[in-house]
Amino acid sequence: MTEQHRHAEVTARALAIAPTELFVDGAWRPAADGATLDIANPATGAVLATIASAGPDDARAALDAAASARDDWARTPARTRSELLRAAFERVHELGEEFAALMTLEMGKPLTDARAEVTYGAEFLRWYAEEAVRINGRYAASPEGNLRLLTVRRPVGPCLFITPWNFPLAMATRKIAPALAAGCTVVLKPAALTPLTSLALARVLEAVGVPAGVVNVVPTASAGAVTDPLLADRRLRKLSFTGSTAVGRSLLRTSADNVLRTSMELGGCAPFIVFEDADLDLAVENAVRTKMRNIGQACNAANSFHVQRGVVEAFTDRLTERLGSLPIGNGLDVGVEVGPLVSEDARADVDTLVRDAVAAGARVATGGAVPEGPGSFYPPTVLADVPADAAILGREIFGPVAPVTSFDTEEEVLARANASEVGLAGYLHTGDMARVLRFAERLEVGLLGVNSPAISNAAAPFGGVKHSGLGREGGPEGIEEYLETVYVGLTDPFA
Ligand code: NAP
Repeated sequence: MTEQHRHAEVTARALAIAPTELFVDGAWRPAADGATLDIANPATGAVLATIASAGPDDARAALDAAASARDDWARTPARTRSELLRAAFERVHELGEEFAALMTLEMGKPLTDARAEVTYGAEFLRWYAEEAVRINGRYAASPEGNLRLLTVRRPVGPCLFITPWNFPLAMATRKIAPALAAGCTVVLKPAALTPLTSLALARVLEAVGVPAGVVNVVPTASAGAVTDPLLADRRLRKLSFTGSTAVGRSLLRTSADNVLRTSMELGGCAPFIVFEDADLDLAVENAVRTKMRNIGQACNAANSFHVQRGVVEAFTDRLTERLGSLPIGNGLDVGVEVGPLVSEDARADVDTLVRDAVAAGARVATGGAVPEGPGSFYPPTVLADVPADAAILGREIFGPVAPVTSFDTEEEVLARANASEVGLAGYLHTGDMARVLRFAERLEVGLLGVNSPAISNAAAPFGGVKHSGLGREGGPEGIEEYLETVYVGLTDPFA
């Protein structure tokens, strides 16, 4: 079989699991005004599918459905909700290769990254299947002894989810699974660039028996026009958003009028810090992984590399060698480790950041130039000798570019890292346990990786501080975002 035939076969199988219509109230339907949206493959520029593009009327119908399903779903026994989530976990794994190929096709990531996302994304369904049956209130006596304090946990109600394009499966399951476990109903608006995976997930949830109206999916080419009316609707009780800090801020302002509960998973700018006492081989390997996962397009990707002066040259040389030799190509091809960026615009943004850094005095050690040919590819790039005040160190790069700079003291690097407006992830490489604890207490981030490249886990709380967001996803903390606490005061039964 030629490579071309293999691609065609894999593509056909992947597209077969992704419906092309809106999913509203348990039915697949076109947009009310007939609008459509083309979904392109960033590796080739070819259109993969044409799907329905929701308008405000479709979004309202989706919220109507979520509002009508709300009470029945909230009263559905936790064991039933749990088993539906567990069945969805099994089904996503059965379709794992199709889901992986679908993400590679619509987003560009190599199949190895896409398979890892299937595992990670599905795990939220399993983890929250397990958490659904452990939602508990409490009973206590008041300190004065005159009251009994009962707390009852209730689902917050219908939720709107807005997700980005970089992790099409995991960003959806990280919200849908805890919401369904808690007894909430959902309207999901996926990113316009990558809606096919969300539609495929909706089909899985439908197939395993999640009732009509509990999950509704409305991809659209006009995000604000679809979500604004929902945010103003009194029936909506929660917004959970993952995306850029700029859009998050604007959605927070809009949500204020309706006093919505909000969870905000926003941008990051993770410092990757290497001390002279670190295992340098491990630090380089972890640098490759934290930089290159998803071709650098991850909110928790290592963004800037701060290396203590005594090892900066050795670190830069080894990183240059590793990144300069990674195979680039169509993510469907075996052995490819670097796919295209998600779009031409994304590539242009990355290229501009690199040019600005070079103008500020950085030296290109490898990469740094837009290649010829189709697809929005950008080569893995190492920028050496980056001045400590260069703009690229403080901006979210969202591409395969590693700017390396040096530092002398712990205080200096901490102050530099904490100067950032955002604080999602940080990575620390050191052999000194006391230093680890000092960073855990002082580095202003929500996630700290210590001598470790991959820290995301469905059982752990993911989220940022400062302008990286509000709330946590994953772990026992993740379900709290979907629960209200009601206090019932009872008189002393012995009075
Ligand atoms: P984005 O431009 O903010 O878009 C995110 C989502 O918001 C998309 O669905 C987008 O729809 C929608 N959107 C855009 N403008 C909107 C508006 N005015 N009203 C309602 N919805 C609107 O971000 P992105 O480029 O997709 O994703 C990259 C960003 O996400 C990065 O900053 C990254 O750090 C962040 N991120 C954070 C986390 C985390 O957990 N903290 C995880 C992943 C990504 P369209 O697709 O139609 O534009």
